[in-house]
Amino acid sequence: MTAAELLGPGGPLAANLSSYEARPAQLAMAEAVERALAEDRVLLSEAGTGTGKTLAYLVPAILSGRKIVVSTATRALQEQIFYKDLPLIERTLGLRPNAALMKGLANYVCKRRHAELRASPDAENADVSRTLSLVDRWIERAEGGDVSGIEGLTEDDPVISRFTSSSDTRVGQSCQYYSQCFVTRMKRAADAANIVVVNHHLFFADLALRGAHPGRVIPDYDAVIFDEAHQLEDVATTFFGVRVSEARISRLLREVDSVLGALERTGFRSGRLVDAARNAAAGFFAAVTRGAGAPEERVTLERDFWTGDRQEAWHRLDDALDGVRALAESVRSELVPGGFTRLSALRGPDVRALAEGLEVAARRASEAREDLATIVDGASGRVTWLDVGARSSALGSSPVDLSSLLRSRLFEVMPSAILTSATLASGPSGATGPRAFSFVRSRLGLNADTISVAELVVPSPFDYAERALLYLPRDMPDPRDAAFLDRAAERTAELVDITGGGAFVLTTSLRAMRALHRALLGRLGRHRVLVQGEAPKTALLESFRASFEAVLVATASFWQGVDVPGEALRLVVLEKVPFPVPSDPVMKARARALEDEGKKPFTELHLPIAKIALKQGFGRLIRTSADRGIVALLDERIHRQAYGRDLLAALPPARRTSDLDEVKRFWSRTSPSVADRG
Ligand code: SF4
Repeated sequence: MTAAELLGPGGPLAANLSSYEARPAQLAMAEAVERALAEDRVLLSEAGTGTGKTLAYLVPAILSGRKIVVSTATRALQEQIFYKDLPLIERTLGLRPNAALMKGLANYVCKRRHAELRASPDAENADVSRTLSLVDRWIERAEGGDVSGIEGLTEDDPVISRFTSSSDTRVGQSCQYYSQCFVTRMKRAADAANIVVVNHHLFFADLALRGAHPGRVIPDYDAVIFDEAHQLEDVATTFFGVRVSEARISRLLREVDSVLGALERTGFRSGRLVDAARNAAAGFFAAVTRGAGAPEERVTLERDFWTGDRQEAWHRLDDALDGVRALAESVRSELVPGGFTRLSALRGPDVRALAEGLEVAARRASEAREDLATIVDGASGRVTWLDVGARSSALGSSPVDLSSLLRSRLFEVMPSAILTSATLASGPSGATGPRAFSFVRSRLGLNADTISVAELVVPSPFDYAERALLYLPRDMPDPRDAAFLDRAAERTAELVDITGGGAFVLTTSLRAMRALHRALLGRLGRHRVLVQGEAPKTALLESFRASFEAVLVATASFWQGVDVPGEALRLVVLEKVPFPVPSDPVMKARARALEDEGKKPFTELHLPIAKIALKQGFGRLIRTSADRGIVALLDERIHRQAYGRDLLAALPPARRTSDLDEVKRFWSRTSPSVADRG
């Protein structure tokens, strides 16, 4: 049977699933995916919320019999595919998916690092000791090694990063724990599977690593399916770039210290090299951040940045890191079997763990030096930047144009690729046509003649016209006006009054998020006003869902990938059109590159990005066919500026109004249960 036959009204899904609804859009997408996999083509598919796109790509992927990596944006979405969608396919369609789940390495306990931390003097620290006791109890009987399974461990526990794996702490096959290692087990399961479910971070971290790096974990595959594909350029930018933060250097030095500290119990003295490196790092970050922008601002570093005391500070740090590398290597050579001398009396697995820790530390010190050199060199085609953080600053170098990189590293070597998302096209809502995917094609390198690309837009089956209202006030100040945030808080409070809470307030900056949160706390006495950052994201969303009347103020990471179906979320307030920050170094460099090609950055870059982000923000509201509610966009420029019409055309076909009374009338016509509870 074909995928469309299996999923269609006469097939086994319809026969075995009591809640089955015929979804023509899903069948159209399943056919297109099947064809693209069979013909080794790239498929770009925008599938509106509710089309059932996950089954539309999973079923053809399983039927193809090929080894396929399915990559999505978050761990929660990975788990949904692995623990819900694939078992549903098995139950209802009788297919045997043979799948494996691979999360990012930081989700797995590294037995070597755990042993290393156990043996270090830090293990006596009360916080570390409390966390380690939870891990110790769990590790003996653990099957999968996923830290989320450790009872009593909170996801924001700072000790977690000290015993979990990562690409830069892996030793590879020489590790003494290799055969019983959780990451090795996960890798073996993925080797044997046909469908490997990963996330974009893991996918691009893996793709960016060169050669036989021990951090590479994804097995070879025949095709790749990207869900939430609108995020690919951002994620790839991170992983094809380099970043050196104060936190990265101090983590490295702390771990070297910790290993050497464990050896000091035996009378070994490491000298003051690590302290000297710490001072060099402090001096370096003081020199680069002196006179730089305000905290939380990212600034471009021009070529003449590396002169005078900054250059000297870099040389000092580079020498110090090289000293640490040499020390780690020489001490390690004394710990390995047959190694000499002062330390040769030491034996046992702990010693081996310490030796492996030093091997990793030496590699990390070298990689930090290389990355710093890349940043200072400022190669053409890259932009270098500085993030001034309140606690830790960072320097980085990012590729400006990923199109040729992705083309040569991915799409030309992996011709069969499916890219899908509810927001991938940048034309009018639901429209196909020659320019529907022009933005994503140009950004990801899919414009070349060497790559065969098919396109498909399938609209959402939801009745937006009936169930959603888009409120676009005309009486707000310009978002750049000093009075805007105050007025935005006032209008938000009026809207919250109408729906009785159940609201997301999504801002485009941390500054606006804090200001709106403060202002709403004062205005919304009877509602719980939550704010991003006050608790981990999952805990925050649980509180929001449980409360029914809560208001959650958040920024970028809540505009997408957040799923609150049902009545708990019935109002989404968007502070303003989510244009990218034009002063952001990567954005600025990309705009300049377009200008150099004679193109207009606003229409070719800023506007399509804003459109996709706006569609994402709107998309938080209606998650099932039974949902209803209001989206308010408080940015009155949408009425005045030429781009307003273009942005609005991209949104789902909800009714629109600028009249608050009309909002009240719409709401009073909604589910009585919602109105009563509000
Ligand atoms: S093989 Fe890698 S992840 Fe596994 S225990 Fe060793 S260092 Fe840790």
